[in-house]
Amino acid sequence: MPSKGWSVGNECTVSLSMPDDWSAATQLHTYPTQTPDHTDWKGSNVVSWAPPTIDELYDGVIEADACPNHSRMMSGVMHHLRIWDAGGQVVEDEAVERILDSMDKLVAEFVALFGPLPYEEYWTILFLTGGGRGGLEHLRSQTSMVPRKALWPQQEEAWRDLVSLLSHEYLHVWNVKRLRQKEFVEYDLSKESRTDLLWWFEGGTSWLGDIICLKSGVWSETDWRKDLERKMKRFLAGDGNRHQSLTTSSHEAWIHLYRPHPYSRESTISYYLEGEMVMMCIDAELRKRSKGESGLETLFAMLWKRHGLDSPVLEELGIRHADIRKGLTSMAGGKRLGIMLDKLTKQKIKPNLEAAMKIFGLSFEATEKEKEKQAWLGLRLSQKNGLNIVGLQHDSCVRNILMPDDELISIDGIRLRSPSELKDALAGKAGTDIEIMISRHNSIQKFKVVAAAQQADKVKLIGKGNKLWKAMLESAQDS
Ligand SMILES: [Zn+2]
Repeated sequence: MPSKGWSVGNECTVSLSMPDDWSAATQLHTYPTQTPDHTDWKGSNVVSWAPPTIDELYDGVIEADACPNHSRMMSGVMHHLRIWDAGGQVVEDEAVERILDSMDKLVAEFVALFGPLPYEEYWTILFLTGGGRGGLEHLRSQTSMVPRKALWPQQEEAWRDLVSLLSHEYLHVWNVKRLRQKEFVEYDLSKESRTDLLWWFEGGTSWLGDIICLKSGVWSETDWRKDLERKMKRFLAGDGNRHQSLTTSSHEAWIHLYRPHPYSRESTISYYLEGEMVMMCIDAELRKRSKGESGLETLFAMLWKRHGLDSPVLEELGIRHADIRKGLTSMAGGKRLGIMLDKLTKQKIKPNLEAAMKIFGLSFEATEKEKEKQAWLGLRLSQKNGLNIVGLQHDSCVRNILMPDDELISIDGIRLRSPSELKDALAGKAGTDIEIMISRHNSIQKFKVVAAAQQADKVKLIGKGNKLWKAMLESAQDS
């Protein structure tokens, strides 16, 4: 039996004294107790919780405010939604219903894959911001944060992202919170805990989370393709695969992913994005070899059942790379995929998305926008007191001339203050001489360079897709 975080005996009580019109949203179970004896706790609105273990205590985030709960039975289990707008904007009922409807569909699709829900109640705590975005998973809840415009009409991309985030954090109920790397069954929170498997836990969750959006119908096929386009742009712009494998990227998360620098994109990779791309490649190969009989999503359910907390048929808690490999090679069509899995996760390789999509009868082409004859400098910019360079792409034509932190002042004598002004200044200048003026440490400098042409990156998925693709789109609830 586990001896640290999960063991019973670390009993403590958490009490909160709130203003009368407030309530708390939390996955923690309430605990009837007397009002603690604090002299300044005069209110009558005191609630207590008794997390049974240290892990439950740390995991049990509490949101207390005057916002209402929106509760609905989903797949036979109560799900609550608490929305708080950081700027005090009113959240329309229609938006709340839209979120609940989407959650309902997602939950049903996850149940079709994983089986009965491993909790009695689930909380979605959603913060609406002016721009911030992120999410964190918990055992029976999620705290997610998106720009509030996601709930506005005609904000398709922001809404698509919200639904994707809800699905991703929700999938962590199984993949991360219950199915864990062996070393994380008991966290040692006194030091950095490392894992080589974030490509599975985060990349895999990103992949399956969006596939479930597709299968459940909360995303249309067009949504999925548009989002892939967005991912492909980032994927093709990065060049870190020559320096880092997915296992290294996972292992070095503490020193790399959360501490980016101007050269991160050419020296490191994201286990979220690259991990997701690897999942797509393996899934396509598995579907091809099994003639459509198996898909990678069933591996997630299989591993949770064999190795996850709360599994009704648990064999052994926690997984290692070898368990993922064993699960994959035991599937129909997966017999020889262990080598592919090892190669794509342990070697410095860029996964071949074009080949994967070809299996589904799909191919990539450049978007109309990218076919324009635009000059291209390959800069990443920030717009703070001017237009500043934060990074240069590895194949940028000004890579040996400009540097991060340079302020871009003008091109051919035209003052630049925004990326769109830069775009205008570069229009029609591919292959021509241009003069760039910058400020470097307050010193004005001018350079002449031949502007490169905008690359026509192939990011748009075309074709209707074959039988394998159609099968992938189908909901598991039908079968
Ligand atoms: Zn995640």
